[in-house]
Amino acid sequence: MNSFREYFTYRNDKLYCEDVSLEEIAEEYGTPLYVYSSKCFNDKFTQLDKALSSHPHLICYSVKSNSNINILRMMQSAGCGMDVVSGGEIYRAIAAGVQPEKIVYAGVGKTTAEIELALTTGIRMFNCESLPEIERINAIAQRMKKTARIAIRVNPDVEANTHHYITTGKKENKFGISMQLLPHIVNAIKNMSYVQLTGLHVHIGSQITDVEPFEEACNRALEVMNKLKAMGMDKCTTLNLGGGFGIQYNDGNSLDIDKWAKVIDNAIKDKNIFLIIEPGRYISGNSGALLTRVQYKKKADTKTFIIVDSGMHHLIRPTLYQAYQHIANVTLREGEEIVDVVGPICESGDFFAKDRKISYTQQGDCLAVLSAGAYGMAMASRYNSHPLPAEVLVDGCTHRLIRNRESYEDLIARERV
Ligand code: PLP
Repeated sequence: MNSFREYFTYRNDKLYCEDVSLEEIAEEYGTPLYVYSSKCFNDKFTQLDKALSSHPHLICYSVKSNSNINILRMMQSAGCGMDVVSGGEIYRAIAAGVQPEKIVYAGVGKTTAEIELALTTGIRMFNCESLPEIERINAIAQRMKKTARIAIRVNPDVEANTHHYITTGKKENKFGISMQLLPHIVNAIKNMSYVQLTGLHVHIGSQITDVEPFEEACNRALEVMNKLKAMGMDKCTTLNLGGGFGIQYNDGNSLDIDKWAKVIDNAIKDKNIFLIIEPGRYISGNSGALLTRVQYKKKADTKTFIIVDSGMHHLIRPTLYQAYQHIANVTLREGEEIVDVVGPICESGDFFAKDRKISYTQQGDCLAVLSAGAYGMAMASRYNSHPLPAEVLVDGCTHRLIRNRESYEDLIARERV
């Protein structure tokens, strides 16, 4: 059900996204090219929505995972709210037609200008990460004669069993407010007239495939909610469980959503608690592939390098997180070989795969790097002055360009000559 290959399948040795041939798309739009399956985005959302059907809830798609406005529009028409972490993401969400009351705003470094934008927009709530941040929100709301709805993001000190760069719920991480500090923070909030504590937020990390860390975090959050009630915070009725739902990149498992839903159902008996989740990768990850063309096949002493026209500048996950991304030849050839698939960037960290057995590859072949829909284009850069790739959205047998390929003129367009 949750295989990374589900929406990218071979038909007669040609790789397809839904009903569209990737070789044809690569011919039409060129490479490097991000290609997304609309069906995958929608199916994943529906799966999560069903899993939470016995609770009042809102699914806030995490904009940071893939922020193309067309993707946001598609998700908002499916019924999603948005989880944002910057003024830029608020701007994107509003431009995509998302209702402000469906936007939740996290992040440790909210600036004055960003808080003003959020209050002017009328977002649902701020997920607050420190006392100075809450004090700043209160002061700005007072000046703007508004009341800011806030949730406290607690740091539950839970081990998420994922890469240490994407673990966020341990006490040594910069995120959230420690449980010990809560009474102090709540007393401070009681003296603020322009913030209203309406929820609690936990987000313990990303690409988590075990249910247990979610269970632990949820139980700790529920304990905290009870304590907050006991302290007189009776408007605190929203529980935001964050994102982090892991997907399949290789042979491993994705998070079992049915199992997760059972655990949440068991833990949360009170149906007056309004639930929010903030999935990014779970919705976008397996929805996308990066198409890249082989420029050279270089035989070195002990290695064969497949040098392609994309690299760490377009998909940084392999080098940043030592992440596995499956690589498939868009037109399958007979035989296999062990190669390094590398990009053109002048860094030894510029690779998609090392010592990987892949289908036999020749110069000019088009390769698809699968499961690249999350934290791919969203983290892409113009390093070495390579223009950013184009993006295409597939729907059944149709496809459309949702971002133009950048030109060399674009590269210097903001520079003052
Ligand atoms: N919510 C918050 C607060 C986050 O920081 C993140 C990711 O960093 C997400 C949600 C989305 O995480 P994921 O894409 O793993 O679901």
